[in-house]
Amino acid sequence: MEYISTRNNSEHFSFKNIFLKGLADDGGLFVPKSIKPFSKEELNKLSRLDYNELAAEIIFPFIGDFMPKEELISIISKSYSNFRSEDVVKISDLGNLKVLELYHGPTLAFKDIAMQLIGNLYQYHLRNEQAKINIIVATSGDTGAAAIDALKGKKNLNVFVLHPNNRISPVQRRLMTIHEEKNVFNIAIEGNFDDCQNLVKAMFNDEKFSRSINMSGVNSINWARIIAQAVYYFYAYFKIGNGKTLSFSVPTGNFGDIYAGYLAKKLGLPIDKLIVATNKNDILHRAISGGDYTQKKVEETNTPSMDIQIASNFERLLYDVKENNSEITKDIMSKIKNNTYQIDNSDLDKIKNNFTSEMLNEKETIEMIKKIYDEHQILVDPHTAVGIGATKKLGLEKNCVVLSTAHPCKFPKAIEDAVFKVERLPESLKYVYDRNEKFDVLPNNIEKVKEYVMNSI
Ligand SMILES: *Cc1c(COP(=O)(O)O)cnc(C)c1O
Repeated sequence: MEYISTRNNSEHFSFKNIFLKGLADDGGLFVPKSIKPFSKEELNKLSRLDYNELAAEIIFPFIGDFMPKEELISIISKSYSNFRSEDVVKISDLGNLKVLELYHGPTLAFKDIAMQLIGNLYQYHLRNEQAKINIIVATSGDTGAAAIDALKGKKNLNVFVLHPNNRISPVQRRLMTIHEEKNVFNIAIEGNFDDCQNLVKAMFNDEKFSRSINMSGVNSINWARIIAQAVYYFYAYFKIGNGKTLSFSVPTGNFGDIYAGYLAKKLGLPIDKLIVATNKNDILHRAISGGDYTQKKVEETNTPSMDIQIASNFERLLYDVKENNSEITKDIMSKIKNNTYQIDNSDLDKIKNNFTSEMLNEKETIEMIKKIYDEHQILVDPHTAVGIGATKKLGLEKNCVVLSTAHPCKFPKAIEDAVFKVERLPESLKYVYDRNEKFDVLPNNIEKVKEYVMNSI
């Protein structure tokens, strides 16, 4: 499969190129040049597979000559062998609604599903390489832990994680900072998640710097993550779709997870609506409901993994809506940068064919956790509560699956506020509270961060 950048589709790249680069040199995101949907017969065959087999069939066409299929199959099974759910994910019932639990990996959020696989893809690539790779990643809390768990101790690579200082939950932080492996570096930036993301983008865009350190990225803009996440939409559909169309509600920040659902739909899965569920950092809800794509200041909420105003993966959707016109996409992205972009009505209609959106504020989120607990004796994390609440507000509970993106124990304060109960970590993760933390605090300053990286490698 060939890939192009959303901002220049005349140059072609292999999967290996785009996997290692993450972001295109022109600042655009990589997408396949074209996507061929599965036929009915193919979907039928896929529907009989278990999770790992399904993952191999969906992922392989996208990575093609990067590795033989047998190798991919063994990497997938290795990646998911430490998950606490036998079939990687789990589906549970909440009355009319179905909940797809994606948090049974080592760091308790859906990010593990793509990241464990990516860690092993790197290892495969690096097996015969001499040069060391430096992976730099920004996190709103969960990506960093998943990346570190997947990459710690791996040969020939370092991982640097930038998180917003004091703006993530202590469990989220501990899952990143308690590791002793020498290739793990935690940096707490005095700023918010968008600042962290901008620092990483600036390092990538500084070609001299990024080349000199052999920089690579695993943020949700990395196409490999999107493919790995598309798998669970198929899995859920085959378990409960029964030939009908299903909608999926997705707690959304960077638009990566929900874009994976869009990819699944483009691959032929009978998906009706993809529900973009946001907290009060609601740029995507404003955009999808009324075309307003102007950024406001990021506010801290009880759903920190969605405290984002720059939804990087949205660029992939815009490229699609603009019928693969990279010049127009580039123009739009510069308007977005100047904070002057409004989506026009015909584009909005196209978006609304596939997406709808809702927003929950913090109070509604807490009330939703409580309501679900009272009615079903099930605890959901605040992000999942936003996904459920959005579905209810839209009246779309029928034939809908809500993606449950994190384990409730990762956000104890919200759970306590809602149900006056402390949700404990799973037994296998109790050690997280016994170990010492290690991280450095740096100002929101690109030169300081570069200097830190240079001095560490
Ligand atoms: C990352 C994350 C999200 C948002 O996912 P995106 O792919 O950034 O839209 C939602 N919930 C949790 C718990 C997360 O960790």
